[in-house]
Amino acid sequence: MLKKSFFLILLAFLVISCIESRYQKVEWAIVIHGGAGSSSGNMSDQKKLEYESSLLEATELGSKMLAQGATALDVVEAVVVYMEDCPLFNAGKGAVKTIEGIHELDAAIMDGSNLKAGAIAGVKEIKNPIKAARLVMDSSAHVFLIGEGASFFAKLKGLEMVDNSYFSTESREEQYKKVVEGREAGDPRGTVGCAVKDKHGNLAVATSTGGMSGKKWGRVGDVPVIGAGTYANNSSAAISGTGHGEYWIRRVVAFDISALMEYKGLSLQEAAQEVIFKKIDPMGGSGGGIIAVDKEGNISMEFNTDLMHRAWAKSTGEYGVGILKGEEKRFIKH
Ligand code: ASP
Repeated sequence: MLKKSFFLILLAFLVISCIESRYQKVEWAIVIHGGAGSSSGNMSDQKKLEYESSLLEATELGSKMLAQGATALDVVEAVVVYMEDCPLFNAGKGAVKTIEGIHELDAAIMDGSNLKAGAIAGVKEIKNPIKAARLVMDSSAHVFLIGEGASFFAKLKGLEMVDNSYFSTESREEQYKKVVEGREAGDPRGTVGCAVKDKHGNLAVATSTGGMSGKKWGRVGDVPVIGAGTYANNSSAAISGTGHGEYWIRRVVAFDISALMEYKGLSLQEAAQEVIFKKIDPMGGSGGGIIAVDKEGNISMEFNTDLMHRAWAKSTGEYGVGILKGEEKRFIKH
């Protein structure tokens, strides 16, 4: 009898703790991407580890800020600055080259609490394009500045300017040669993005890129186009895209996910899957993916390519990192 009641109590305890951890409130959540692309056949284990540790470091930086009560907006900016400074990614240092052999960078940021946004495109000498996007949002009367005007504004605001060669790395030079010689169809892999829910219940997103490698004369991708590669709204989600930008613009991917949630009542996961697999997939192009977070702290990382560099963390202690499809390392922080 005593044995039976002991087991019943134990069972009840286990069920309660399971339910508790399943429904534990997510105070804050962060998800990042470092670009999507095709097979990693040419990626060594060493390179994979380098990507994983940079992704985890970037997530850790954001997690610490969030735990201390930082705003979603400050966190997405800081995390993207970190990734722009990391030469592994196609954003800031390490950006791909245009067909003319130079770097032209695009970036955008959006505040889900008031739908304010800032974006810049085609800039050649702003060290951290995401800082310029934030300034466009906070300290100009506009949403979107391009080229020389954007650089003039950034200089005026005291941002650090660099020579265009600062963004080059050895591997991007090699990639450029291959593209020019027609040995590689400009693989864009490495755009960066960060979506966050903070302790105050607000959402924000930031995305930064060098665009598609070998891109032509003033081409602008989806990243700085609000609603295409970047969108945040407290009533739905914060979403950052990566992939074949032309398709992301035509499909207005990030806004479409938000609209499906807001108008049709779909969950974040349902909306993201609908757009990536039912709308983008049939259109063709080289594909891509999104990372997103909603106001409950649910995270989505959907992509139709072989890989998407990604990492995430939540106030509940869950965190993880992944590169290839179906391969994720999951951890719990106690
Ligand atoms: N979406 C970016 C662009 O088209 C590239 C990428 O995310 O890889 O500019």
